[in-house]
Amino acid sequence: MTQSPYKTVDSETEKSSDVVWHQATVSHDDRVKSNKHRPAVLWFTGLSGSGKSTIANAVDKMLHDSGCKTYVLDGDNIRHGLNGDLTFTDVDRIENIRRIGEVSKLFVDAGLLVCSAFISPFKSDREMIAKKLKQGEFIEIFIDTPLDVCAQRDPKGLYAKVKTGEIKNFTGVDSAYEAPQNADIVIKTAECSVHDCALQIVNYLKQNGYFQQY
Ligand code: ADP
Repeated sequence: MTQSPYKTVDSETEKSSDVVWHQATVSHDDRVKSNKHRPAVLWFTGLSGSGKSTIANAVDKMLHDSGCKTYVLDGDNIRHGLNGDLTFTDVDRIENIRRIGEVSKLFVDAGLLVCSAFISPFKSDREMIAKKLKQGEFIEIFIDTPLDVCAQRDPKGLYAKVKTGEIKNFTGVDSAYEAPQNADIVIKTAECSVHDCALQIVNYLKQNGYFQQY
């Protein structure tokens, strides 16, 4: 019988100890072989309004147009569905990221290149997700946009609400953002167009053997 890939990482949190892992008939390797690329999570972290969703979608489009199997997981969308029961307390923020990490892992198991765009302000949470994946399956992308540029863009009107006191505990303002120190890719959106930012990421994938075209 094949062991659950979860046992070594999450055994302390697993509550259903009598559930036996069922090995899939079509294996992960079979799925990867049928694609023209290696699977990975492209983890976009950065302040609200930094450009995570915009660039994740631009990268997704470029990869999709090149024949890659892709998907975008976006913070706001996930909070409407899977994580709709979670609030913004510290405990729920951690659970939010834990579930997203598990979903991202499933997409990698299915052989996809998945763009996951989440503020994910805490280094420990990002490390928790990296640990769930194998070497080379987690690519940390720091969308490095200065706070004043994000606040000026304010695409969702959230910074305006922070200013009037309508929103509290906002990342980068009155809640910490721990910027990555060793991100695989750093994107300076205040200095490059959306297209050039996306191309920087696609070129990284190409140079590191994830896929050939584009
Ligand atoms: P986030 O997902 O990080 O909250 P969004 O992608 O929703 O951010 O919003 C970023 C905003 O900044 C969008 O309105 C986008 O059009 C704008 N923007 C301007 N220049 C860039 C750039 N180079 N890269 C990404 N977004 C940019």
